[in-house]
Amino acid sequence: MSYELKPWHEIPIGSIVTEAGSSKINHTGSWRMLRPVLHTDKCTHCLICWIFCPDDSIPVTPQERFETDFEYCKGCGICATECPYDALEMVPEMEIKLKELEELG
Ligand code: SF4
Ligand code: SF4
Repeated sequence: MSYELKPWHEIPIGSIVTEAGSSKINHTGSWRMLRPVLHTDKCTHCLICWIFCPDDSIPVTPQERFETDFEYCKGCGICATECPYDALEMVPEMEIKLKELEELG
């Protein structure tokens, strides 16, 4: 198969972000399929997950990590893969939502 390379000005425009701050409006966590569930008993607060999170969705201080910011966490699972202490478990959102509904009665 061969491809014809186009000059830049012939490439169709895909999308344009016209204003700054769009990440404040678009809560990327809404498309998450898997949720990183934190097992606090295993977490040593080494902050490795924070270093790897591509969405800056793990709030930390230099000494401590806090619960994930689910408004923006996309559920990519990198944090769970990189955690050296198995303190993060990727759980299907549907499973969590059903459990929450059951608890409501
Ligand atoms: S990488 Fe694992 S042990 Fe380290 S702070 Fe994150 S969840 Fe806790
Ligand atoms: S699942 Fe991905 S986006 Fe969410 S906290 Fe982990 S690394 Fe960040």
